[in-house]
Parts: sequence; C-alpha cells; structure tokens
Amino acid sequence: MLIAHKIALNPNNTQGTYFARAAGTARFAYNWALAAWKSQYEAHLLDPSLPKPSQQSLRRELNAIKAEQFPWMLEVTKNAPQMAIIQLGAAFKNFFEGRAQYPKFKKKGMHDSFTLSNDQFSIDGSRIRIPHLGWVRMREALRFTGKIMSATVSRVADRWFVSITVDTQDDLRPAKAENQGAAGVDLGVKSLATLSTGEVITGPKAHKALLCRIRRLTRSLSRKTKGSQNRKKAQRKLARLHARVKNIRQDALHKLTTDLTGRFHTIGIEDLNVSGMVKNRHLSRAVSDMGFFEFRRQLEYKAAQRGGLVVVADRWYPSSKTCSGCGYKLETLPLDVREWVCPECGEVHDRDVNAAINLKNMAVSSTVSVCGEAGSGSGRKTRVKPASVKQKVSFVPIQAGMNKSD
Ligand SMILES: [Zn+2]
Repeated sequence: MLIAHKIALNPNNTQGTYFARAAGTARFAYNWALAAWKSQYEAHLLDPSLPKPSQQSLRRELNAIKAEQFPWMLEVTKNAPQMAIIQLGAAFKNFFEGRAQYPKFKKKGMHDSFTLSNDQFSIDGSRIRIPHLGWVRMREALRFTGKIMSATVSRVADRWFVSITVDTQDDLRPAKAENQGAAGVDLGVKSLATLSTGEVITGPKAHKALLCRIRRLTRSLSRKTKGSQNRKKAQRKLARLHARVKNIRQDALHKLTTDLTGRFHTIGIEDLNVSGMVKNRHLSRAVSDMGFFEFRRQLEYKAAQRGGLVVVADRWYPSSKTCSGCGYKLETLPLDVREWVCPECGEVHDRDVNAAINLKNMAVSSTVSVCGEAGSGSGRKTRVKPASVKQKVSFVPIQAGMNKSD
C-alpha cells in the first residue's frame, strides 16, 4: 500500500536557497515542456507525419539542450527538471482520461516543489541526503517501513516540507470503533459540532486572535509600497499566519473525525455540500473554511478503516425544524433561535442537540431498513442517501496535497 508521510524540514540557509532554486528549475522545466507540448501538438495536427509530443520525448529534448541553453539547470539535481516533465505527462494523462483540467503554467510562489526519485536520495533516522547538498535535518523520522518510492520537497509559506512516499506492508488499520452505537452530528455556527449525546465540541480557540492579526496585517500591507522590502516582509508574515490558521483548523477537524469514528459505529450527518450562502451561515469558520467536503472526506475514510458507516441525510432533510420527540415539524425556525418548545408535545429543545438527535435517528432507521428489520420506532420517513463508503482500505489517498500529516 502506498502511503505518503509529510515531514517538516530544518534546512540551513544554503539548503533553503538550494530548495528554492531546485523548485524554480522544476517550474521552469514544467512550463518549458508545456509550451513545447502545445506547439508540437498543433504541428502534429497540421502535419500528421510529425510525432505527437510525449513526456519521454520532451525529457530527451530538454536533456539535449540544457547544458548549452540553460546551464544553470546543472546546479541542482537532474531530478528537478526530469520529474517535473514526468508530472506534466501525468497531468496530460489525467486530462485525456477526463479526470482533470488541461494543464496550466505554474506560477512562482504557488506550490513551489521538486521531486526526487528514490535513487537520488537516502534517509538515515531523522535526516535526508539530497544530491549536491548533503544531509538535511527532518523534524521527525519516517514512521513507516517499506520500499521508499520518491520524495517531494515543497514550500508552505516560508517553511519547507518533504513528503516521502513509501510502499509499506505495515498494518495501518486503527482499532475498531468502540461500541457506543450511533450518533448524529450537527455542525455548528458557534461551536464546531454538537452530538446527539448532548456533547458540544468547541472549535479551536487559538485562531480567533490570529484572525485579528491577519486582518490587521492585511490592512497594513495595502499601505506599503509595491515592490518594497517592507511589503515583501509583510507578505511573508501574512503567508505564515494563513498557514498557521489552516493547520489549526485542519488539526481540529482531524481530532473531531478521529474521535467520532473511534466511538460510534453509525454516524449521521447533514449534507451541507451546498455552495454559497447556506454553507457559510450554518457552519463554524473551522468547518466552512476547510470545506464541508474535507470534514466528510475524513469522516468517511476513517469510518471505512474501522468498519463504521457514515449516513448523509438528504440536503432538504429538516433536521433542525423537526421535534426529535414526537416528529412534529415547524414551519420556520430562524437561525438566532437557540432553544424552542414543541407545540405538539411540549418538549424543550436545544436547537443543535435536537438536530443531532434527528440525524442519529435518520442514520439508524436507514441502516435498519437496509437490513430488512423492524423500524427503529421513529416511524418517520426520511429521504436518505447512504454515504459512498469506500471499501478499499488505502490509508490515505495518494494525491497532491493529501498527505498523512496534513
Ligand atoms: Zn414534539
């Protein structure tokens, strides 16, 4: 099973400069090959006797001219340009097979990275050896054993990371879910989530202060002269803050989804994957900014690993407006109403807990009816679509940007 482990690097100044140069070389080679691909393909259309472009032919072409035309390329590992063109080939393959958009030119400062094949680096404890550069310190040792396939060095804000892909036989399956049965999860506005058990999970606190600093810095940035050193400094600072906020949110989501899938077998959630207003009004910043999709992705893959089930309610399912006691449905329920009394049975409801209980009942009744047993007692009909539980037990899908330690 292929798994990627992303580890922060501690490069010294020389090494950091080298990384930037190698990433620049990779970007240049990628863009050079993309331009060549376009023009060769157009030429092929006009004259079919000319060959179609391919990553192999483009790599050969670049190799033939680089010493003369781009001698600075020789200062970094030959993998930087080579792997970039192989990645362009993969991008075209994804495009031709309908999985991706037509490849775009890469811009400086956006996803700077370069990749090394496994014969071009070695790992010893918590350090990695890179050609022309020697040993670079890693913040931790590789956690998985197996055949090392490749390593990608990339920049996030002003920090460098290496993502090492390993073909591992390690047993990565986490412990099975504790048997606490089913739960419903209502993603909140104020809190991160409310469970049908009544538990309220508050979101990350640390980032409120950070958001203020981001706003202040953004304002001060707009007052600084374009191209000035001060502006560049402020931009770097802002990028660091954004990366930190993203990490804090991602961490909160991971903790929530790990906890939920560890405790409950069946988990009912709302379908909030609606673009625009609805999403933003109903979700805490942590979820709305990471995207409901990310919450659902984590929940589903973690539940699948533990043999659990995620049930997603129909997007029109009125989880907030329905009384979880008697099933009475309110006409409207304004967002600022946190508590309400059911006019039918008189039960007092906390808005979020009530919604979570409805989602739990929905999830349970949908699994029961699938098994053909008696209903769970609520008797209400809900339109339900089961989440697409991915059966393959791949630990983490290996894709750009989706790594173990994300
Ligand atoms: Zn009621």
